[in-house]
Amino acid sequence: MVAIIGAGPVGNHLAAELCKRGFSVDVYEEHKVIGKPVQCTGLTTFFLNKLMKPDDSFVVNRISRTQVFGPDGKSVEIALPKNYIVDRTKFDAHLATVAQSHGAKYHSNHKFLSSERQGQQHTLHFVNGKTSKTDLLVGADGPLSAVAKSNGMYGQRKFIIGHQARIKTHCAEDLVEFFIDEGYFGWLVPESNKIARLGICSLDKPKHYFDKLHHLRPGKILEWQSGIIPLYDPKTVTEKDHVYLVGDAATQVKASTLGGIIPGMMAAEELTKALVTGKSYEHLWKKRIGFELWVHLLIHKMMLQRFHKEDYNKLIRLVQQPRITKLITTHDREFPSLLLAKMALLEPRFLQFTRFLW
Ligand SMILES: Cc1cc2nc3c(=O)[nH]c(=O)nc-3n(C[C@H](O)[C@H](O)[C@H](O)COP(=O)(O)OP(=O)(O)OC[C@H]3O[C@@H](n4cnc5c(N)ncnc54)[C@H](O)[C@@H]3O)c2cc1C
Repeated sequence: MVAIIGAGPVGNHLAAELCKRGFSVDVYEEHKVIGKPVQCTGLTTFFLNKLMKPDDSFVVNRISRTQVFGPDGKSVEIALPKNYIVDRTKFDAHLATVAQSHGAKYHSNHKFLSSERQGQQHTLHFVNGKTSKTDLLVGADGPLSAVAKSNGMYGQRKFIIGHQARIKTHCAEDLVEFFIDEGYFGWLVPESNKIARLGICSLDKPKHYFDKLHHLRPGKILEWQSGIIPLYDPKTVTEKDHVYLVGDAATQVKASTLGGIIPGMMAAEELTKALVTGKSYEHLWKKRIGFELWVHLLIHKMMLQRFHKEDYNKLIRLVQQPRITKLITTHDREFPSLLLAKMALLEPRFLQFTRFLW
């Protein structure tokens, strides 16, 4: 018997994968409605195809190019293999429906409070006063994971602030705009040519940076969708006494792009493998995504924490070369290490940025 806390994309994907392999699964979600409130841009790479079948019930738009702007306003445009923009409420609900069709039982309005181990089982306590017993406990309960806190697995995690609004604007429907500048990383992700998700992430002053970007890309604010994103921490303990952490709860997020949906779903598949085979979950997920998450973390540290305006402008100028844009087009940003190595081989001037690593 497995209890999963959190019906986000990662908990739901895990529930489906485990049920397919014969496990009995209960998913506990604190909210009444799965997928709400939305605190995400919903941009995923083409890699989503390898994990599930993206369909129009939750894909609101498809993207085929990106334009990246530096602080001086100069930009580079790059063609992309198809990226998906998902409606997070519908996406999460779809994944939950798939899990339910394989036999997972869902319990909404169940906010996990704490757990303790008694013999071979965990007793779970919920804020609504209910309790439950389980053999295996999984925390898929997001960045502030109560499962991690209750089981001494929270560690020293750090967060980035994601401040985002849905806005009414005019934009190209197939183009994601990114803005890189000192102190923040911004985006304009179109749902259509009239509605977009405009947001920034930063370590501090989110309102200041959002207002700056909103000035560049004005539009009527329809809805706020802000939240926090855990910075990947390779020291996070993700497996202890039959308690497991996955997704944001385990800090499995790409620190350079702040995408957590795909790495979390990949880790869920590794947890399934571990529970089926008896192998170490931590070993399996680190083997599949640990190195790439670490490379994303290095990029984050270099760019968001150490670059100055002139460094971003230089970077854009180097990337503008057609041989570099072509290379980026053909690589998946889930796996940046190979791309970075090839970029340095094609254009050794990229190596000047490695001084920010120390
Ligand atoms: C502004 C912003 C933009 C982002 N944009 C992107 C993007 O474009 N692409 C991308 O890939 N990632 C993006 N992310 C990151 C992405 O949202 C997360 O990585 C992803 O949602 C992780 O999924 P998860 O299932 O691990 O956690 P979550 O989606 O956080 O789901 C956790 C679930 O657990 C529930 N829960 C929490 N605590 C409890 C409790 N105590 N008891 C019961 N249930 C509980 C929550 O209600 C929620 O349903 C963004 C994040 C932010 C903040």
